[in-house]
Amino acid sequence: MQPTITIEGFGTAAVGTIYGIGRNYADHAKELGNQVPVGEPVVFLKAPSSVRALAGGSLAFATESIHHEAELVLRIGQNIPLGTKNPGWAAIDAIGLGLDLTRREKQNDLKTKGLPWTLAKSFTGSSVLSPMIKTSECAGQEHFKFKFAIDGKTLQEGDTRQMIFDVPTLLTFLASFNTLLTGDLIFTGTPAGVGPMKRGDRFTLELMEPHRRWDGVL
Ligand code: MG
Repeated sequence: MQPTITIEGFGTAAVGTIYGIGRNYADHAKELGNQVPVGEPVVFLKAPSSVRALAGGSLAFATESIHHEAELVLRIGQNIPLGTKNPGWAAIDAIGLGLDLTRREKQNDLKTKGLPWTLAKSFTGSSVLSPMIKTSECAGQEHFKFKFAIDGKTLQEGDTRQMIFDVPTLLTFLASFNTLLTGDLIFTGTPAGVGPMKRGDRFTLELMEPHRRWDGVL
């Protein structure tokens, strides 16, 4: 059973490696009491089988308090060999919004112990994804604004201009240690406003331009 995502006007596509970027918005790093990264991004991985559509599907740790992290998600559209400098936006063939669901208490425990974040970040249902939009529909756009709401109450607002490491920088950095493959996904980090959500919560992910509004149920 190969995990897939939906791309508007295309159909489904297989999911490769999922890269997560941590602390990429200064206001979010500060709200969790973390240092803002200097020099290089914080990177972690999520299993492809953690992908979940906007509604329905399994969710591990469903009885725990899980935090929402609304993020712009990129899909790699071509293989990028190790060491490629500045593959740039041309290497991204689709964008969408996602929730990098996080077991915050577990993550805090792991951080305290200096251990990897995997058990807090990568579990069935932890990578919630909207349908993705082909970048060819976005007319060279390189910045995106988005919102996340639960029950109509806006909790997170993002503007990718506020990223500490922008998309071209992230691509060059990731390709400096791994070959990136078609179908890999990048969760680009979350703005401030993260907080708990629970099974059954009705949420909305909204992309401002091009405008899309996606409703989901955890
Ligand atoms: Mg995140």
